[in-house]
Amino acid sequence: MTAPTDAADPRDELAESLDAWRTRPAAQQPRWPDDVALREVALTLAGMPPLVVASEVDQLRERLAAVARGEAFLLQGGDCAETFVTSSQADIAGKVRVLLQMSVVLTYGASMPVVKLGRIAGQYAKPRSSDLDPSGKPSYRGDMVNDLHGERTPDPRRILQAYSTAASTLNLLRAYAGGGLAALDRVHAWNTAFARTTHTGARYEKLAAEIDRAVRFMRACGVDDAALEGVELYSSHEALILEYERALTRIEVDGLDGARAYDLSGHFVWVGERTRQMDGAHLDFVSRIANPIGVKLGPTTTPEFAAELVERLDPHNQAGRLTLISRMSNAKVRDALPPIVEKVESTGHRVVWQCDPMHGNTEETADGVKTRHLDRIIDEVDGFFDVHAELGTHPGGLHVELTGDDVTECIGGTAELTPDDLGRRYETACDPRLNIEQSLELAFRVAERLVA
Ligand code: PEP
Ligand code: MN
Repeated sequence: MTAPTDAADPRDELAESLDAWRTRPAAQQPRWPDDVALREVALTLAGMPPLVVASEVDQLRERLAAVARGEAFLLQGGDCAETFVTSSQADIAGKVRVLLQMSVVLTYGASMPVVKLGRIAGQYAKPRSSDLDPSGKPSYRGDMVNDLHGERTPDPRRILQAYSTAASTLNLLRAYAGGGLAALDRVHAWNTAFARTTHTGARYEKLAAEIDRAVRFMRACGVDDAALEGVELYSSHEALILEYERALTRIEVDGLDGARAYDLSGHFVWVGERTRQMDGAHLDFVSRIANPIGVKLGPTTTPEFAAELVERLDPHNQAGRLTLISRMSNAKVRDALPPIVEKVESTGHRVVWQCDPMHGNTEETADGVKTRHLDRIIDEVDGFFDVHAELGTHPGGLHVELTGDDVTECIGGTAELTPDDLGRRYETACDPRLNIEQSLELAFRVAERLVA
């Protein structure tokens, strides 16, 4: 018997559902001046090759399933806002190096596999609390939308520039991850000349020397494993500009399950604190893609909301599908997080619990400069670990804003940066980032908590 020729193609139905977000309120979308140009951009992008492929996305979901089961740790980091001009080889190499350094500190210190996820190759769009900045100009919404140094009129052609910058960034990332930079023999080389001279850099050097010996020992024994030569490095960004995400979403036909949609703008995307409305466009869109996804949870999150979110975004109870990223502030994490964790765990879903200790701890100096104090960042991480220790759940990951440069954007740390240092090297296009030394210091602290 032959199948009826007019049988509905599962791809058509899925494709239609991928546009359902358009009927819902979408927070934080730019007011593009020209709808025709926007449609042309979306059409062009839909015809371009995807930036990643579905098999990699599935592989990351499996890695995250191990995190959800308590067998691995998730390290996610990169700029608050990547820009087109700060996507040079030096910028990318710097971020990769610091992620690799943090990851060996964690792997070696805690004897736990680390899933490495950059906020990289797509982090070009920012939600803003106000349409205008303090000077009265339209707010900068990320390089995908407008120009930090220009008039700030949204220009849809910037979406195509975001795509090509993401493509060139990923190209280098893949080369580095495949062994160019990431081979374990280079554990010393990841430490920059600057970092070596600092207290934390010296601590890293000691650990690197131990790893170096271990690697030489393994090689002498004839161990010739791919894990020594390279790493798996995945890419993520906030799924904010839904036209970009939709245009890079592709439907894959799977013999057993029918069709599945993958957002191939990156391996992992998350929904931010300002766009996670239950009936909003962003949650609708991510509910329909097969990628592992994250949602930021600020201190106003109720346990009921979190439980509903988990049912909505992980209906098949698939470990690794959903990462809940708490960003409570150091003052609130110990009170706000436990009822959420308890309620979500009681649903039986296996999520990854990840701590973003940056976004609840932003403050302004007397001069009005945005900064973050490393003491508060470390205290939120400590609070996060305390909560999970108390409840017997796995403190699964860390989500941070960092750079591979010696910037002075966050204060505190063993270098004891003060507000007076901020003018020296304050380069972020958006939120203040940890510099290399501060990033390493945090990694050592997390490693200590993971073994405790
Ligand atoms: C961010 O991660 O840069 C961000 C804007 O975070 P949040 O949505 O948690 O405020
Ligand atoms: Mn940020």
